[in-house]
Amino acid sequence: MKFSQYQYTRPNYEEDRKNFLGIIEEIKNSQSLDEQFQKIQDAHVLRGHIQTAMTLSSIRYTINTEDKFYKDEKTYWDKTIPLYEEIFFIYNKTLLESPFKKELEERLSKQFFRLAQLNIKSFSPEVIPELQEENNLITQYIELIASAKIKFMGRELNISGLTPYTLSHDRELRKMANDIKYDFFKEKENEIDEIFEKLVKIRDKIAKKLGFKNFVELGYARMRRTDYNPEMVENFRNQVQKYIVPLASELYEKQRKRLELDELKHYDEKFEFSDGNAIPKGDSNWILENAKKMYDELSPETSEFFSYMIDHELMDLVTKKGKSAGGYCTYIWDYGSPFIFANFNGTSGDIDVMTHEAGHAFQVYLSRWVGIPGLNCTYESAEVHSMSMEFFTWPWMELFFKEDTAKYKFTHLGGAIKFIPYGVTVDAFQHFIYENPDATQSERKSAWRELEKKYLPHKNYSESDFLERGGWWFQQAHIFKVPFYYIDYTLAQICALQFWKNMKDDREGAWQDYINVSNVGGTCSFLELLERGNIVSPFLDECVPSVIEEIRKELEILGKNF
Ligand code: ZN
Repeated sequence: MKFSQYQYTRPNYEEDRKNFLGIIEEIKNSQSLDEQFQKIQDAHVLRGHIQTAMTLSSIRYTINTEDKFYKDEKTYWDKTIPLYEEIFFIYNKTLLESPFKKELEERLSKQFFRLAQLNIKSFSPEVIPELQEENNLITQYIELIASAKIKFMGRELNISGLTPYTLSHDRELRKMANDIKYDFFKEKENEIDEIFEKLVKIRDKIAKKLGFKNFVELGYARMRRTDYNPEMVENFRNQVQKYIVPLASELYEKQRKRLELDELKHYDEKFEFSDGNAIPKGDSNWILENAKKMYDELSPETSEFFSYMIDHELMDLVTKKGKSAGGYCTYIWDYGSPFIFANFNGTSGDIDVMTHEAGHAFQVYLSRWVGIPGLNCTYESAEVHSMSMEFFTWPWMELFFKEDTAKYKFTHLGGAIKFIPYGVTVDAFQHFIYENPDATQSERKSAWRELEKKYLPHKNYSESDFLERGGWWFQQAHIFKVPFYYIDYTLAQICALQFWKNMKDDREGAWQDYINVSNVGGTCSFLELLERGNIVSPFLDECVPSVIEEIRKELEILGKNF
């Protein structure tokens, strides 16, 4: 069966609710472990159907946001998902109170119960009005950003429409495009400050109502962090400051020289080579053909997986009118199918998104056996799978980039090093925010700018008063939408870099480790996962030092090409 033949029907919420609560009642009344486990299977089947409908509807909406039918379905699901969440909350609570909990841990995994526990801690019907208010404020932020109508070069653009100009070869043009972008944020400064102020206050209130000291602990619980805390994350940030920041600064300095500039200004940062970045040497069909060859050669497991994706038409890669922006991977429960969504645009990002999303898809494909809906990988673990796949496919990059391969690898590896300090800046900022909920708007901006000086000392804002005052984070949507979601990318990145190093030493061994971390799905916590993969925890002092020299060496070798 192909994706287009997968059947979508809107479930009947009232009926589902009655059935699900009925199953929960039977779970409560079960007299034996086996009886209870049988009822839990019934719950899985029902939840799987609900999830399938939700996913199919969402994929088809993002493929064509102008489709009237799926547009209505989206509106329906936006309203209905929170109602289902409440049922799953009751379900989790019931299982946590089961007299057979110990035995169930063996069948459903310890991780299942840890996550259920966090779910219970971070929600209570008492905070529903505040949660609605929080969602409301997030929507206000999204709409405010989306509302940007910027007149530039005779056209009316939104923020993402400006992006190509902010990366232009013509320095004057990219400066102008950046200026006009930050003028927009400056113009909306009071409004954004006000939305953020309300978000911080409402989150603080929710946390206190739920019995937390402040929002930090609740933020960690919402991010489903079962085995690390703010102190451990701080230790990782310290390693980044000590080992990665100096290397990133060196990279920016070399970039400045390569571009023959007196000063590398903020609008030059993303501009790597005066003769342009590496681009794939063919169109999307050509990329797909080469990707097929690559995954056939990489391993028997990836070969089987990728053929499955192609045969069932589970990838929608090309940009089309009406298609949503971005890229993602999801899983269609009843059909046991991963799905990859992307917007190819002719840049090296096409290959990144291909290998990255295929990493996510390969993981869900390998862990189909788990069979527990809702037990997904936690965020940082999921990114380990995807970011590591980007590096496992390095030996095949010649297929896509030909004579530009060294350039691609340099940008990819160097990009990881430049990204991590930015990621910890976002994280440290959020700790400041929620530990100091009463800080003023200008104290918040100063705190951001101070953190930039610590982790991103290369930043040169001499031509922008707004950025010099600490306004950069206005455009970082995670800070508004999903607090504390960001360190995850940096934790995963340092793990992926370890896989990169391990595969240089012993490719077969590293690949086996990768399979071992991928096929357990959501049944392991982040640190349990790393142990299976022979990866040093980012929270241990020796983590960053274990890879940094190897990376520096590789960047030097690749850098000799230009
Ligand atoms: Zn990802």
